[in-house]
Amino acid sequence: NNNVETREFQTEITQLLDIVINSLYTEREIFLRELISNAADATEKLRYCRLTENEISESEQPLEISIETDEEKHTLTITDNGIGMTKEELIENLGTIAHSGSKEFIRQLTEVRKAGSGSNTDLSLIGQFGVGFYSAFMVAEKVTLYTRSFRPDSESWIWSSNGAGSYLIEPGDQSNYGTRIVLQLKENAYNFSKADEINRIIKQYSSFVPYPVKVNGEKVNTVEAIWTKNASEISEQEYTEFYKYIDNAFDEPFYRMHFSSDAPLSIKALLFVPGENYERFGFSKMERGVNLFCKKVLIQEKSEAIVPEWMRFVRGVIDSDDLPLNISRETLQDNALVAKLNKVVTGRFLKYLEEQAKDDPAKYNQFWEKFSRFIKEGAASDYAHKDALVRLLRFESNMTAEGELISLEGYVGRMREEQKAIYYVSGSNRKVIESGPYLEIFKDKGIEVLYTYEPIDDYILSGLPEFKEKKIVAAEQDSQDLPDLDAEQPSNAESDIPEDEVKALLDWFKETLGDRVTEVRASKRLVDSPAVVLSSYGTHSMQKMMQIMNKDM
Ligand code: ADP
Ligand code: MG
Repeated sequence: NNNVETREFQTEITQLLDIVINSLYTEREIFLRELISNAADATEKLRYCRLTENEISESEQPLEISIETDEEKHTLTITDNGIGMTKEELIENLGTIAHSGSKEFIRQLTEVRKAGSGSNTDLSLIGQFGVGFYSAFMVAEKVTLYTRSFRPDSESWIWSSNGAGSYLIEPGDQSNYGTRIVLQLKENAYNFSKADEINRIIKQYSSFVPYPVKVNGEKVNTVEAIWTKNASEISEQEYTEFYKYIDNAFDEPFYRMHFSSDAPLSIKALLFVPGENYERFGFSKMERGVNLFCKKVLIQEKSEAIVPEWMRFVRGVIDSDDLPLNISRETLQDNALVAKLNKVVTGRFLKYLEEQAKDDPAKYNQFWEKFSRFIKEGAASDYAHKDALVRLLRFESNMTAEGELISLEGYVGRMREEQKAIYYVSGSNRKVIESGPYLEIFKDKGIEVLYTYEPIDDYILSGLPEFKEKKIVAAEQDSQDLPDLDAEQPSNAESDIPEDEVKALLDWFKETLGDRVTEVRASKRLVDSPAVVLSSYGTHSMQKMMQIMNKDM
């Protein structure tokens, strides 16, 4: 046939397909979740266009997803009445990957395989990395996709592939808009042509798809927007299933916040902190994970406008009746109402975290271990919520055991009465700090000092002039605000050295060090060490960070 065009997959897709096809992946039933979620996305997009454009002419097909099983032919067919795809869209969406995060995911998968543990490659993240469609090849030896775009005068196309390097595109003859995907199942995947099995998988992974999902004509899912219900009407299990549904996730959510308000804005928000933070394992920066709705209609997926960047680890939905439905997605970022929603929801989320930290500090410490990065990033960059973010910070100190954490508020609560300031000392770890000279006098006087292990900690603290009216001072800094040390002798002080001897020693230091120091002083802050270098510009790690920044500029 002359009309059949053969096209190569982009290299990354070929690599991915090679893994998908050759892995013994136990949870391969997730392919169905991925295909249903694509069908639901396409349906949602169509619904949105219908509400905001007048261009759609055709007779309306029902907004639903239908699945047919055929045990004799060993096929599984998934049909949606969504937006469909033009030929250009087919080539772009099912042949190339633009997103660098997905490429990174595939690169890591490929490396794990080369390293040898290949037969058990973990593909469960495939949906989160925007390449879910290809999971169909875990169970199918051939995938055929029939599609027609909803745009008037669109043509119909057939896309097919066996997953080995290339795919075919040819004209089709379908009159309805939407997409039908036919999977010719592999011999070891014939059970996916059984209706019972398909029903079970849909109930497990796709209960919350917002459109009817029918298997051989019978509806299986419960169509509802659970965030619009009262918390008392929703079970723990429903919440968890919903989280797994929206994030294509396998883990349990770590925290969940469900709230609604009517004034000053109408907001319904259901937010989750996921069970794990993949960024800390070196995956590239996460995308935002909160979807914006208006009266249950999806306005923007993974909205960048609705939560600040540091909240990118949060998954969930925000629904507001106050948003105009026909708001253009391009201008969301500049929309004053969206900015207001962002502010209210972010504030509520921070308040929620603060409550969690009070109610169950041990659990909050686990949260801190995984997600502290984001809170610190926020404290360093989000001026509007700085105070609340700073209250969420945690530190070790010379008075905590290793791994035990204290907040700034806790610190102030147990400060010595005569103590003027909050102190901190930086170092790459506890050992380094405790073997350095800066801590000596504080230890000797029984004063608590926070430990900062990362430059961003120092960046945040040095940018905070005060907390609860207490100054915040780096122990390395040459500051008037250090404890009133000169008034007291260290506990193990010998009798005074005669003044002329002190002067002679200081002169010798000044002469020897020359321009490298601005001043040399006799001090009583040291207990065991003979000398210490102080700085007038903040901590050493701050200086290092500034040097790096200056070099980059
Ligand atoms: P993601 O859904 O995260 O974008 P997928 O690999 O699942 O990644 O799908 C890739 C793209 O293919 C989708 O973004 C969409 O544009 C297109 N697509 C897949 N399935 C359908 C469908 N049933 N109808 C319309 N477009 C689809
Ligand atoms: Mg998808």
